[in-house]
Amino acid sequence: MATELYLKHTEAESPPRTALTINPAKTCQPIGAMYAALGVHRCLPHSHGSQGCCSYHRSTLTRHYKEPVMAATSSFTEGSSVFGGQSNLLQAFNTIFTLYDPQIIAVHTTCLSETIGDDLPQIIGKATLEGKIPSGRFVLHASTPSYIGSHATGFGSMVRAFVDYFAEKTGKKTETIGVFPGWVEPADMAELKRLLESMEVPYVLLPDTSGVLDGPLTGRFEMYPEGGTKLEDIRRLGDAKASVALGPYCSGPAAKLLDTKCKVPCEMLDLPIGLAATDRFIDTLRRVAGVAVSETIVKERGRLLDMMADMHQYTYGKTVALAGDPDQLCSLAEFLRDLDMKVKYVVTGTPGKAFDARLTELIGAAEEGDWRGAPGDLFALHQKLKQDPTDLLISNSYGKFIARDEGIPFVRFGFPIMDRIGHADFACVGYRGAMRIMEKILGVLMDRQDRDAPNESFELVM
Ligand code: SF4
Repeated sequence: MATELYLKHTEAESPPRTALTINPAKTCQPIGAMYAALGVHRCLPHSHGSQGCCSYHRSTLTRHYKEPVMAATSSFTEGSSVFGGQSNLLQAFNTIFTLYDPQIIAVHTTCLSETIGDDLPQIIGKATLEGKIPSGRFVLHASTPSYIGSHATGFGSMVRAFVDYFAEKTGKKTETIGVFPGWVEPADMAELKRLLESMEVPYVLLPDTSGVLDGPLTGRFEMYPEGGTKLEDIRRLGDAKASVALGPYCSGPAAKLLDTKCKVPCEMLDLPIGLAATDRFIDTLRRVAGVAVSETIVKERGRLLDMMADMHQYTYGKTVALAGDPDQLCSLAEFLRDLDMKVKYVVTGTPGKAFDARLTELIGAAEEGDWRGAPGDLFALHQKLKQDPTDLLISNSYGKFIARDEGIPFVRFGFPIMDRIGHADFACVGYRGAMRIMEKILGVLMDRQDRDAPNESFELVM
């Protein structure tokens, strides 16, 4: 019944749309800002806007991570909507530092406070002058209205704000490599740290949501879990030898600012998802940190190659539709290309010309019958799939409606995933992560093969 209601009205063709988005392939900027801020130790995200925004953003993160997500709000009412949110925010600083005792409050704006034109640096300056920010406690802000950008750019803006407010150049260079992981899952951040430690690279990872949004059940409530990047580590990014930015949308702004502010040269890479992107990541670490690639990593790469070779007959020539965020999609598309799959449709809701250009560099220009919606929406993707379906659809949970309607094997990947578990606990980055992606893809393709096989070719062994 739900399918009938939601999807049967999607026509294969419709008049051209230029000013209307249907089923967006993105969500609000503040959700990304909130997620990034949760990756800093003893930091409380603060939504400068109405309660509704904050509730929506918290609940979306909670549904994805299956963890309580802490955040405060300026709770705009009619008065603040007309006269501005300064008094609400000043009151909030008092309340939050008194009741919840964070080390840092990370304020992000919303559509409403940006439309009013609240001047956050001025408000934070006033709070400092009036002694509303206790000694040893800090406030920073990022501008994240949702009528531009997406959750991916909101994440990038908040990471940049941490560098802007806290990174310090003392003049004494260290061997530390700053690593900006981009929007990946807590398990991915843990996997990046394992790879860095395996190569004995001294590093600071910013942000780091491992140990925050994948915490164990202990029976005790921890307002501030033990994970997260420490403030002193963010400060010493200013003396780092170099930085590595994983994903230009989510990590590029911070890495570029660290370069201009503190003269820390940056390497801009794709997210290390799949074989080739992980190769570039590992090789970059080897070069900039002057270290050797560990035997453990070499073996993991070999295992991935073995799996790719063994399973090639099942992936070769399969067509794929992708929806998600630009940093993830570029690397994922490249990996699928390396599996000899055909990436036919790609859609992201995050605007920006860089995505299309990078995708073309990695997998070549779109061929006849291909479609790249950037920015585009899931309604348009659904129409493309109605006209010419693919063998596989990979997207966040919202793709399940399309997959069910068109009968397409479906892999959940990206944000948000609200109807399955495991994404926060099992990494998709690195060589081992690539094996997990393959396992997911092959699982749905071979389930379909088994379902459709006539009795005489229904095989026990593949
Ligand atoms: S679109 Fe704007 S107003 Fe709506 S929830 Fe997101 S930030 Fe709030």
